[in-house]
Amino acid sequence: MMKIRRVGVIGAGQMGNGIAHVCALAGHKVYLNDLSREIIESALATINGNMARQVRNGRITEEQRKEALGRIEIAESFEVLEPCDLVIESASEDEQVKRKIFAGLCPVLRPDTLVATNTSSISITRLAAATDRPERFMGIHFMNPVPVMELVELIRGIATDDETFNTVRNFTIDLGKTVAVAEDFPAFIVNRILLPMINEAVYTLYEGVGTVEAIDTAMKLGAHHPMGPLELADFIGLDTCLSIMQVLYDGLADSKYRPCPLLVKYVEAGWLGRKTQRGFYDYRGEKPVPTR
Ligand code: NAD
Repeated sequence: MMKIRRVGVIGAGQMGNGIAHVCALAGHKVYLNDLSREIIESALATINGNMARQVRNGRITEEQRKEALGRIEIAESFEVLEPCDLVIESASEDEQVKRKIFAGLCPVLRPDTLVATNTSSISITRLAAATDRPERFMGIHFMNPVPVMELVELIRGIATDDETFNTVRNFTIDLGKTVAVAEDFPAFIVNRILLPMINEAVYTLYEGVGTVEAIDTAMKLGAHHPMGPLELADFIGLDTCLSIMQVLYDGLADSKYRPCPLLVKYVEAGWLGRKTQRGFYDYRGEKPVPTR
């Protein structure tokens, strides 16, 4: 079985930087790619900050932080990813974006390099078909924030071979994560259950049943959720939430997955949650303030 040593990460957003973070700490050489050098540099600054927090909390040593950071290389083009044993795509949740990435990426990789996607909801089998190696392709679905969350969902496409699956499972366990295997149906397990709840919370707001504050307080204190559903939606990114609901709605053809029009409105406004400083809460001040 192949031993993964060099990992490519495409997309250096909130998930991509977390994936690069845990891979580098686990001793892998990491090649981090995004649309521009500036985006990758800003991701490196985020990783540095997050690792520094881990040092302060006593989770890693200063030595480990320095070594891990030294293992992350800026990859401005796909050509740089050529030595990788595994490439994890974690770009925006848009099928066309991902297809374009695989079209550009696959021709520069070794034939035995494994390719994975961190998609939250798009069919692994369909994405695999957009590559030249469906048998060496699968879903590795990390949770947000990657360095903190214990779970990784592993999803095989129809063609994924056993060696790929076993190599990726070992790689994931070596990262210190616990694996849950999900079948390739829209949104897999966690988001199939979580996103309809978030969407329902947005409907609850839309229909005036409660304010942002009332809804989040109700679920935190009434159901013991560590974060309220609207706070969580802002954390995930409202564009990501909307695209997952759309994939559930289209993929399962059931009206119960209809995205709430208010969620659509927030995304159209560019109020995407924490990453744009505004969503169901406004994060520009000292304390988050509900926007409704
Ligand atoms: P994000 O918006 O924070 O980051 C996406 C990054 O992809 C951006 O930096 C963008 O510049 C980059 N990108 C876009 N097109 C690209 C291209 N052609 N080449 C290289 N980079 C490109 O989004 P995110 O939250 O990090 O989500 C990334 C993936 O992870 C999505 O598939 C999402 O569904 C999945 N995911 C998200 C969460 C979550 O909670 N946000 C959890 C699990 C999985």
